[in-house]
Amino acid sequence: MKKQSLEEGVINTHPCFSERGHERYGRLHLPVAPVCNISCNYCNRNYDCVNESRPGVSSRIITPLEALKRVLVATERDRISVIGVAGPGDPLANESTFNFFKLVRKEFPNIFLCLSTNGLLLPKKVEVLQDLGIFTVTVTINAINPSTAEKIYAWILYDGKLMKGREASEYLLENQWNGLEMLTDRGFCVKVNSVLIPGVNEREIENIAERARRLKAKVMNIIPLIPNGKMINLQKPSCQVLEDIRKVCEKHIRQIRHCRQCRADAFGSLEEDKDIELELINNA
Ligand code: SF4
Ligand code: SF4
Repeated sequence: MKKQSLEEGVINTHPCFSERGHERYGRLHLPVAPVCNISCNYCNRNYDCVNESRPGVSSRIITPLEALKRVLVATERDRISVIGVAGPGDPLANESTFNFFKLVRKEFPNIFLCLSTNGLLLPKKVEVLQDLGIFTVTVTINAINPSTAEKIYAWILYDGKLMKGREASEYLLENQWNGLEMLTDRGFCVKVNSVLIPGVNEREIENIAERARRLKAKVMNIIPLIPNGKMINLQKPSCQVLEDIRKVCEKHIRQIRHCRQCRADAFGSLEEDKDIELELINNA
């Protein structure tokens, strides 16, 4: 497929990249990636949790083979246009992500494969993603300045070394932005997610939007903080604050407004979450 037609396909069918796709198609997240290589202060990964719907939550972790079985069942039952790995840890930090994508690519040569990442390992993994035929990638970038990033991330683990403070922030930001540029240089369709954290990064969100556009990301998804983890006492931004900042950022890059901040095992259209239903089918 030519690059242009792949992009058109994303606009028409990918429920996370486009509202048009979101009205007609569903996505399936496979929770094959438990490990994370950084620590965001707002993160609280959770399992066996049937009533919570937010990133980082999954009923359980499944193996690549179980995930393939889930894909076979889901695509029979629903109009699924995208198969993605979105955690509950960082997909690039888990070999099982790549093993799963290899399996699913064999069975479904034409379906969109998608992943989201904190970006730390992007520069090392871009080639692998290209070889797997992945076309859409979401990178979560929450800061421009290391001094801001320091307030958001407790530590990173990179090349076997645990880093904290300024050193960790500088490494992470450099890899996120370089990784984003490497992706777009190779023709990937990239969405930037930014968590709006009141009192911490709201002044940098527009700079992130501007830089993301300059580096050729296609869309931006500003998501409101869900107070959790070490940030449990912060306020969730109001709808008005969120909309105001989206309007400012829209001058630079197209904004996504239909994100549901899905679970790592989400299934179905964005209007419905059938992950529990799928879990039951899978266990039958
Ligand atoms: Fe949690 Fe995701 Fe941050 Fe990792 S990158 S700590 S899984 S929010
Ligand atoms: Fe799409 Fe948002 Fe759900 Fe990700 S979290 S699958 S971007 S709706």
